[in-house]
Amino acid sequence: RKTELLKFKDHPTQTSDGHPIALLANVGCISEINHLSSVGGEGVGLFRTEFMLMNRQQLPDEQQQYQLYCDALQLLNGRILTIRTIDIGADKEVPALAMPVEENPALGLRGVRYTLAHPQLFCVQLKAILRAANQGPIRLMFPMVNQVEELETILALIEQCKTELIEQEKGYGPLSMGIVVETPAAVLNLASMLPLLDFISIGTNDLTQYTMAADRGNPELIKRYPVLSPALIKLISQTINQAHAAKVTVSLCGELASNPRATALLVGLGIDELSVSVAALLEIKQELSRWTYIECVELAQHAKVISRIETLNELLTCCHS
Ligand code: PEP
Ligand code: MG
Repeated sequence: RKTELLKFKDHPTQTSDGHPIALLANVGCISEINHLSSVGGEGVGLFRTEFMLMNRQQLPDEQQQYQLYCDALQLLNGRILTIRTIDIGADKEVPALAMPVEENPALGLRGVRYTLAHPQLFCVQLKAILRAANQGPIRLMFPMVNQVEELETILALIEQCKTELIEQEKGYGPLSMGIVVETPAAVLNLASMLPLLDFISIGTNDLTQYTMAADRGNPELIKRYPVLSPALIKLISQTINQAHAAKVTVSLCGELASNPRATALLVGLGIDELSVSVAALLEIKQELSRWTYIECVELAQHAKVISRIETLNELLTCCHS
């Protein structure tokens, strides 16, 4: 099976009749990026930068972060690097930072809520990324954005960082801007944010958790509320349609993208890009090659009107070879 999969390494990622999908990888460290070339990944669709903060007594400074992003770009050799700004809080604890004790951390100061509350820390990362953007193609995305005001504050902070970089004669490069769509509010408020964005990436892990009000780490609840559910399909579809109407590219970087049972459905719903774990990359490419684009669209049309999780499961099981 492994050798059969390896045949897909140099294949383009497309349906059997040539509908292309961008296939990128989720990574949490440099060594995973190193691995990417061996499976033919087109770039990084999600770099979870909070991992650089774990198991450390002190935070990396601007120069150290700049070096890290440059190292990543060098390994990628012209392919896209999508950096998500640090997403701490909730289940991700950082010993080097004084994190508040909260009764409901998943509903607390996490993602950009934390970084906007600590603009100095945020600006260190933003400046390092702005500088690295001189060395290769970087897309920058922000976790847990609900509201256009949050996005405006972030963009203003970036302008301020650029001014400071000019004053320090450090220079910076161009960035594409995106958010992780991972709360129901982000989906409902997309129209106001899309004009400010180049791309969005759907984070189905948190989108499921916050839509179902079900802890993503609780195995009992995951059984009851799987990610492939009628509510999530409606939210994903609504997100893609709104973004496409505004000519904004849509990626999906939650675990769902790594599940071959979901591939044809997501493509049929109109997804432009999937960002998957490095280990799943070839399998997703192979799965996509088994479908024509029209088959994907028809599957999505069926799935969209299903109201029962069980019926949805049956549809996907009977379609999955
Ligand atoms: C998500 O929420 O789907 C996601 C990709 O981010 P994380 O799993 O890091 O929260
Ligand atoms: Mg998330």
